[in-house]
Amino acid sequence: MSDQKFATNALHAGHDVTVNGGTRAVPIYQSTAYVFNNSDHAANLFSLAEFGNIYTRINNPTNDILEQRLAALEGGIASVVCSSGTGAINTALLVLLKAGDHIVASNSLYGGTYNLFSVTLPRLGITTTFVDPSDPSNFGKAVQDNTRAFFVESLGNPKLDVLDLKAISKEAKAAQVPFIVDNTVASPALLNPIEHGANIVIHSLTKYINGNGTALGGAIIDAGTFDWANGKFPEFTEPSPGYHGLVYHDALGPAAFIAKVRIEGLRDHGACLSPFNAFQIIQGLETLEVRMKKHSENALALAHWLEGRDEVTWVNYPGLESSKYKKLSDEYLPNGQSSIVTFGVKGGFESSKKIADETKVFSLLANIGDTKSLIIHPASTTHQQLDEAEQESTGVTKDLIRLSVGLENLEDLKSDLEQAFAGI
Ligand SMILES: *Cc1c(COP(=O)(O)O)cnc(C)c1O
Repeated sequence: MSDQKFATNALHAGHDVTVNGGTRAVPIYQSTAYVFNNSDHAANLFSLAEFGNIYTRINNPTNDILEQRLAALEGGIASVVCSSGTGAINTALLVLLKAGDHIVASNSLYGGTYNLFSVTLPRLGITTTFVDPSDPSNFGKAVQDNTRAFFVESLGNPKLDVLDLKAISKEAKAAQVPFIVDNTVASPALLNPIEHGANIVIHSLTKYINGNGTALGGAIIDAGTFDWANGKFPEFTEPSPGYHGLVYHDALGPAAFIAKVRIEGLRDHGACLSPFNAFQIIQGLETLEVRMKKHSENALALAHWLEGRDEVTWVNYPGLESSKYKKLSDEYLPNGQSSIVTFGVKGGFESSKKIADETKVFSLLANIGDTKSLIIHPASTTHQQLDEAEQESTGVTKDLIRLSVGLENLEDLKSDLEQAFAGI
């Protein structure tokens, strides 16, 4: 399957109709547990002597199809789906890290992730140094003896900074730590971080991959390229007390990490995906490639149009000639730069807030990647508690309006913004 191209894999990978009752659509296996043939069979499943389903917190046939499909689309060896993007980030990090470990992360991260790293993980003894990702050498400079991961977003939200993944992956390689890339905003249809050196890819499936704004979900995809036996990760090379003495690296080779995510991470942290949500997300994933193309076309056209408006003081979209990320965007996102456009207007905070209140086609809400167009004024909503320095590093200025441009007719989107501009 994975020899086939993206659009084909998005529709078919992982679904063998001959073992699923001939169903053309992926069926929902809405079952909590699975009947064992006998006690020996159960013992074999628990000891990994045989692969099979045990309990839906660990594995489920509907989720399995989504997992195989995502691994094929990102070029990974395997994947584990989770209850949300946040669940995926937490599960990946808690499998990898322990108290005393350290992360080097980009300073332009999704707000929830930033909070996890800056407030919640330190309570567990896991600390983070945030660096300006525009200079990749900043990652290497922040490495400590206890550093065990690099974490970035391929396309930051809402700063829209395109990262030089190749250069950062070299820094991670030199530091001998896994390079984790949250690829939510680009989606696998526009960018595959594994091609540029990522070892682990994270997705919030809630956004573009589902695309309809109907289900939360997350995924961890393992490239299978990291050397867990390099001396920094004894949890993979010594007998695991969490799984009756299993030595992950010896038993599972390149799949050591993703196996541990499933059999210890899902088992102990429980951030598993409902099979119903997996089904819903599969419906969205089928059309991801065509949607990302249209999202990107609409967003670029609208960004150009905004640049020509008198009310508008600045526009940020990585596909614009005026963007300082245009060069990196040409390298990493040549087929489209996704749906997010940010801009400012004359009159600053008050005018921007009013525009977000006045649009009718663009819905005022905190989400991205829906087929419908969305708008938000972060300084008065999602980012209201940031101080000036945090506003600067996250790129959220007081006048910033964030659009997630949907698949509506472009002229209707322009008219909607035009009538909102008339009110300021
Ligand atoms: C939304 C988002 C997340 C969190 O995903 P949820 O599914 O909402 O938990 C993580 N990273 C990025 C870049 C996001 O946009």
